[in-house]
Amino acid sequence: MNNISRQTLISSILVIAALAFLVHRSRSFTSRPAPVERVWPVMGTFASVTLRGDHADQLDAVCDQTAAMLETVNSLMSVYIPDSEISRLNATTEAVPVSPLTRQMLERTRHYTQGTGGAFDATVLPLVRLWGFSGGKTPETLPSDAMIEAARRLMGIDKLELGENSARMTAPGTTLDLGGIAKGFAVDRCYEAVIAGNAVNAIFNLGGNIRVHGKATPDRPWRIGVQDPFEQGETLGFLALDSGMALATSGNYERFVMINGKRYTHIIDPRTGRPVEGMAGVTILSESATETDALSTALFVIGIEDAAATLARFPGSEAIMVPDRRPTEIYLSKGMQAKFVPHPEYRNAIRRLPE
Ligand code: AMP
Ligand code: MG
Repeated sequence: MNNISRQTLISSILVIAALAFLVHRSRSFTSRPAPVERVWPVMGTFASVTLRGDHADQLDAVCDQTAAMLETVNSLMSVYIPDSEISRLNATTEAVPVSPLTRQMLERTRHYTQGTGGAFDATVLPLVRLWGFSGGKTPETLPSDAMIEAARRLMGIDKLELGENSARMTAPGTTLDLGGIAKGFAVDRCYEAVIAGNAVNAIFNLGGNIRVHGKATPDRPWRIGVQDPFEQGETLGFLALDSGMALATSGNYERFVMINGKRYTHIIDPRTGRPVEGMAGVTILSESATETDALSTALFVIGIEDAAATLARFPGSEAIMVPDRRPTEIYLSKGMQAKFVPHPEYRNAIRRLPE
């Protein structure tokens, strides 16, 4: 098991253990059936789901539906699967038929690429591969300026043409990588299944993309720890999530390559064509897991100085940003300040994002 998988597994197990404790406590309040809890590998990471409600058979059904939904999203949109709809789209400049789910995903992808001024840019795949991610081979030496420029010239979401039931990449070599948004999108689709299936309390965690429904116990909201980017398995503090809210973190520790003894992270700055330096972790809170996923990647690229201006374009989204320097500093957006509860040792590390 590689580093990401191990860390994600540990995080998932911690979440499940915490939930199991809460659920155990809460059962004395209620005669409801036992919660359904599952953890399984999918989309190159781990999914964990906990559901509580009045009807055990409904909970099982919703759980099965979420597992099936994650498989569906993966099989349609993974660039690792040669005949996924996205791989087929990437391989040609002809129009490719796409399912309603992929069509919706592509529309959202374009929305966030445009809304973040291209900091989140799903046409980043040639650069992502050049640096050794998403199926690329880890380079032994740093890619040359000419190689970076050549890959960068292939980018542009304007080359994605969306029809009603089809899509087309209009320029040869321009290719999509939905790795920065697909997990959040998948979590939103699972969330919808829960609402439809009447599971009253639920938490999904797909590789750090979280969305909740209801409460952890009858008298307590879901509380989620915010990952400390410098200490595996440790948290900086907590956030209480109201029903329906989503949370996602992008971190430089999640996936990286070593070139000439230096660590390069998996998030690429489309403006420079190089892995982002200077950020350690970005956590976004919002009403949609698609948005938290896209914006956590985007703000990781944008950095502390310009983050507030981007957030202002997405009302309801709030950020926690940790630069890659010690001692730890934790920058909070305006609306995050009343929500994030740092551990006592980090109270003096709190800063405000510049407006
Ligand atoms: P996340 O962990 O959600 O921040 O997503 C990171 C993944 O998104 C990477 O592993 C790449 O597959 C892809 N990616 C890297 N840089 C970008 C970018 N600037 N915009 C969109 N996707 C990106
Ligand atoms: Mg993301």
